[in-house]
Amino acid sequence: MTTTPYQNLELQPLAGQWRSGSSQTQLPVLNPYTGEELLKLNLATKDDMEQAFVAARDAQVGWAAMGPAARAAVLLKAVEIFDQRREEIIDWLIKESGSTRIKAQIEWGAARGITLEAASFPSRVQGCILPNDIPGKESRVYRKPIGVVGVISPWNFPLHLSQRSVAPALALGNAVVIKPASDTPVTGGLLLAHIFAEAGLPAGVLSVVVGSGAEIGDAFVAHPIPGFISFTGSTQVGLNIGRIACGSQYLKHVALELGGNSPFVVLADADVEQAVNAAVVGKFLHQGQICMAINRIIVEQPLLEEFTRRYVERVSALKYGDPSLADTVVGPVINAKQLSGLLHKVELAKQEGATLLVGGAAQGNVLPPHVFGNVTADMDIAREEIFGPLVGIQSATDEQHALVLANQSEYGLSSAVFTASLERGVRFAQGIQAGMTHINDMPVNDAPNAAFGGEKGSGLGRFNGEWAIQEFTRDHWITVQHTPRQYPF
Ligand code: NAD
Repeated sequence: MTTTPYQNLELQPLAGQWRSGSSQTQLPVLNPYTGEELLKLNLATKDDMEQAFVAARDAQVGWAAMGPAARAAVLLKAVEIFDQRREEIIDWLIKESGSTRIKAQIEWGAARGITLEAASFPSRVQGCILPNDIPGKESRVYRKPIGVVGVISPWNFPLHLSQRSVAPALALGNAVVIKPASDTPVTGGLLLAHIFAEAGLPAGVLSVVVGSGAEIGDAFVAHPIPGFISFTGSTQVGLNIGRIACGSQYLKHVALELGGNSPFVVLADADVEQAVNAAVVGKFLHQGQICMAINRIIVEQPLLEEFTRRYVERVSALKYGDPSLADTVVGPVINAKQLSGLLHKVELAKQEGATLLVGGAAQGNVLPPHVFGNVTADMDIAREEIFGPLVGIQSATDEQHALVLANQSEYGLSSAVFTASLERGVRFAQGIQAGMTHINDMPVNDAPNAAFGGEKGSGLGRFNGEWAIQEFTRDHWITVQHTPRQYPF
């Protein structure tokens, strides 16, 4: 079946109407590879945001009252639309977020996957009846929607990182207002709003406010209507959101999915070839702009020389450039500011004494893959999140030292360990301070039914499956006194 591509993407669904933002300031949306202007839209103001939250609050009641089958049907229809519009969605991910075709296909699959998973949520919500010591009392716990959920998402996996909150929140009877990142308003919000509108979601239940985080971000978080803020982005901004949402004036629930600094550990008994394969994809998929991307490669001494030689050989052969070509694996980074930060990191790594093993000059926003050897834990490239196509290799004297190095980070999102002994891998994994560890695989993994989230500076909360049902609903304890209660006075 052929579909007409969505039109008028410069309009935002605000309080049940598709219209321009009321600000006079226009946001040009650029293709990070060609620099072409894809569209221009007027930003939303605080007043637009206010209207969106009020409409969401009003529309939520009717949406939550619809039975589970009716809500599931909207989600299932959205899955069908994901399938029908697969190429249109992938094309937007390539041109707006600089995704390679491979990454865009993965992201489309992840967003579709969580939509399908969320279609099961309306009928999976369960309350319970508890025993109670007071004669004649029945003690029940109901699970109910939160009400209105505010979703703030980043530009790197915009479609999926919005949808992993939007789909569960809607399925469970909430209304949602999305604030996508300014680099990716289409893939981070507007496309999803079109998909849900086409799927039959009632008007007003989902709004998208495109506005700069610095301008409307604090007001979005501080607004009294959303009872839950689901934020995915940097640790720095996330800490500020936590301060506002749970500060002196407000007490809101938050999910904070923040930065990462994933260790990739290769123990001496590992299959080197497979470890190299995993480290190539786990580092360079989407130019390393993934929260779970490998940030530090830690190799046990006996394998260091062989691993490094093979890794450098593979990385030197990676094709970089035009993301729309099927065989390009490293495309552009999102914008010039991000590129300049990465170039600074390259210089810093050299100054701090790391050895550049693979590199090359940037062409436009495309930075060729960089690999550094002789990296130590105190260097910037090991301490800080990189979020680009650079990586450093560290040497570990033994397994225990590898674990110390792996945990030497303020972050704790994902991680990976390669070893021929699976039980050794499990023991090692249990010692890693992170929300997620993958044995004999890369740290970049996401499954719609498995707990996703981090520890330490990587945030609070868990997504997907049962965990999303918990996050996007609240318990309400209700008791029924069937017979008159005897009071002590
Ligand atoms: P960012 O923190 O700069 O921006 C994220 C979002 O927050 C954007 O929509 C931005 O407009 C908004 N924002 C900015 N200032 C705000 C404010 N004061 N109030 C409210 N919102 C505000 O992050 P980014 O550069 O877009 O994304 C990269 C970061 O996201 C990396 O650190 C990466 O690790 C992290 N990330 C984490 C996960 C995860 O699941 N843990 C996933 C992807 C990305």
